[in-house]
Amino acid sequence: MDAIARSLAETGLPHLLRVAAAREAVAAGAAGDADRIAAGMAGHFLRPVINATGILLHTNLGRAPLGERSQGGAANVELDLSTGRRGQRTTSVSLLLRALTGAEAATAVNNGAAALLLALATLARGEPVVVSRGELVEIGGGFRVPEVLAASGARLVEVGTTNKTRLSDYERALSELPAEAKPVLLKVHQSNYRIVGFTESTPLPELARLGPPVVADLGSGLLDAETPWLPGPPPRWLAGEPAARQSLSEGAALVTFSGDKLLGGPQAGVLAGAAELVEQCARNPLYRALRPGGLVLAELQATLLAYAERRYEDIAFWRMAATPALQLRQRAEAIADRVGGPVAVCDSRAEVGAGSSPGETIESAALFLPGDHRDALLSQRPPIVARVEGGRTLLDLRSVLPEDDGTVEGALKQLVAGAGA
Ligand SMILES: *Cc1c(COP(=O)(O)O)cnc(C)c1O
Repeated sequence: MDAIARSLAETGLPHLLRVAAAREAVAAGAAGDADRIAAGMAGHFLRPVINATGILLHTNLGRAPLGERSQGGAANVELDLSTGRRGQRTTSVSLLLRALTGAEAATAVNNGAAALLLALATLARGEPVVVSRGELVEIGGGFRVPEVLAASGARLVEVGTTNKTRLSDYERALSELPAEAKPVLLKVHQSNYRIVGFTESTPLPELARLGPPVVADLGSGLLDAETPWLPGPPPRWLAGEPAARQSLSEGAALVTFSGDKLLGGPQAGVLAGAAELVEQCARNPLYRALRPGGLVLAELQATLLAYAERRYEDIAFWRMAATPALQLRQRAEAIADRVGGPVAVCDSRAEVGAGSSPGETIESAALFLPGDHRDALLSQRPPIVARVEGGRTLLDLRSVLPEDDGTVEGALKQLVAGAGA
């Protein structure tokens, strides 16, 4: 057993797991399978990878790319350094979020789903939540609006139809509620799909005039439609995305969104809006179960500081999204020149991903070579994730940071040399 385990050293697994793989193989009467079992285990370990898919927010790659900002050691997660007393863990991100979105108050939880769950469980437990039938959506990863709503203890009141929901539909539903009901209006961004053609939905300002608080689940986490952190005007591919600042000024009482989509930060969820409602959410015992840890808060704070100081290059997502296509083309050509052989450059269309800006693409450039080489690229260190299109393997440079170009070049050289051998 020990000899088999030692033969698996190349997997990088600790001895304990190599022994487990050896045992499993021997128990199945196939000692020769130990490599396969160990490789299977190793494939699940988190490690840095190069995302050459051209999908900037890739769900399988943890959505927004992150830097390594963790300093190690202790941090003042709940210590207010100005008084030496116990503080609140989300105060710094709350200050930044307020300044960046115009919200009266804000707090953070572990993901967007938790933010919506907390908002509904706090404002609408046992109460009616009025939602358009066109917004009872499923976002990837099993997030279904009706199920989250049920889990929060709120009562779903569906209005309108899949393609059309008018103001009068909401008005009728509200007028039919018992006088003692405390309804909430929920507006959910459809995120990963679009209904086109014969459609109608009720804009947020009209909903806000109806009286009950409007909770807007924005999903994507665009802070401000004007993108003041970018050098030029807002990119065209953002046009369909709702933004926190504008949703709040149009009358949303509370907005919820993810930290790792268009915000470009860590997996987190944000609630922002009226101070009274945010404070109510933070006092809910559920908050204790949904609150983020110090690692997430440090990363979220760093991301929001970069927005505040207009250092968009320090947010990997925005740095990738805002690179001119010509620069990508030049990088691709430089790599292709040095690799030679069958590797060449083509135009490509990158995507935002993570359900944001569905159907929109961003001009990009890719390296390509004939055939499907995805497995060979995945076995590189670090692994490179590519895509196959029309029988060719494409490495789209919009989702690759320029620091990684040398690694991509090395991997392609190895691939080309291996194919020639
Ligand atoms: C992505 C999304 C969510 C879920 O957010 P997570 O951070 O993945 O939990 C909820 N609502 C909408 C509209 C979304 O787009």
